Amino acid sequence: MAVATAATIVRTLHRIQRQLTDLRGRLAAGPRQITAGTGRVTAAEAARDQLADELRQAQKLVDTKQLQLRSAEAKIGDLETKRNTAKTNKEYQLLGEQIEADKMAIKVLEDEILESLERVDEVRSRQPAAATLVKETGEKLEAVKRQVAEETVHLEQEVARVSSQLQEAEADLTDALRELYQRVVKHKGEDGMATVDGGCCGGCHQQLTGKMISQLLLGDAVMCRSCGRLLYDPDQAA
Ligand SMILES: [Zn+2]
Repeated sequence: MAVATAATIVRTLHRIQRQLTDLRGRLAAGPRQITAGTGRVTAAEAARDQLADELRQAQKLVDTKQLQLRSAEAKIGDLETKRNTAKTNKEYQLLGEQIEADKMAIKVLEDEILESLERVDEVRSRQPAAATLVKETGEKLEAVKRQVAEETVHLEQEVARVSSQLQEAEADLTDALRELYQRVVKHKGEDGMATVDGGCCGGCHQQLTGKMISQLLLGDAVMCRSCGRLLYDPDQAA
């Protein structure tokens, strides 16, 4: 019966662990995409609400100034009535000056109302684009959610399939090697294994001893003394 070399088994385990890392990475990418999309929707909604708030405030300013205008106009009316019944020239003249001053104030107020109305129009004109952005980011997010849900089903099936391959491959390990393998994988995952590379550790590039290189050439797996990775020679993996 042909016995697989340690190098063959570790190479298989390394490949499967890399596959699992890749699959888990793709699984984790889904929720991140959803989070990013949700963030864009939230930002678009905040911008839309901010505009609605600006519009309310601009409208409120117009209302306030229009009230001030009406009350200023009423005051001028009162002053004019008083002037018509003025007892002295001096009183007549003073009331006239006051009326002129109030009329000036009204002109300023009218200009301010025009500016405020322009502001209302300007804010209102930005609302359709803001609403469109909310709709578009929302639709995109829904599409991403559907896509991620589909991919997740597929990826989880793949993880299950590859995990059972991993169990099968792990069963081929000798007890001593299994202990070593489980320790490195627990701490470093797939990065706990590396190929030998020109007499050096493929993980940390530390030069290996002659004895280790001989073991690797025999198809053994050895542990790098520098980084603790489980090393194998891919050329010895039949
Ligand atoms: Zn190393």
